Amino acid sequence: MAYDEQNVFAKILRGEIPCNKVYEDEFALAFHDINPMAPVHVLVVPRGAYASFADFARDADDETVAGFFRAANTVARELGLDPDGYRILANHGVAARQEVQHFHLHIFGGSDLGAMIRRAAS
Ligand code: 5GP
Repeated sequence: MAYDEQNVFAKILRGEIPCNKVYEDEFALAFHDINPMAPVHVLVVPRGAYASFADFARDADDETVAGFFRAANTVARELGLDPDGYRILANHGVAARQEVQHFHLHIFGGSDLGAMIRRAAS
């Protein structure tokens, strides 16, 4: 997947549009989703130009991958989600309806999140 420098998360990373930030370090920026699907719905994005999980997992160096996932863990912990639990999700591509073409994790929490996924029509 080619990376589009004009995607909305690239603009947020460059500070061109605002976000409701919850955490940042050298590997990641985390901010509240603009259209939350749970009482807590935070997005965690790597700083580099990776269009989706597949690009990130393939192209990022080991330090970047580890740093990013450790940052996501820190975000969940600092949000106070650990005791009750939370869900992490990443969409890749058309079938998953990935809307923003910059790799990101969704962290959902703050309530009983129900079943893992609605059963897809076959
Ligand atoms: P995806 O479908 O790509 O996994 O999810 C993209 C997410 O980004 C959606 O949950 C959507 O609400 C969120 N989003 C889209 N545009 C913006 C924005 O400008 N700011 C923030 N904070 N979230 C956004």
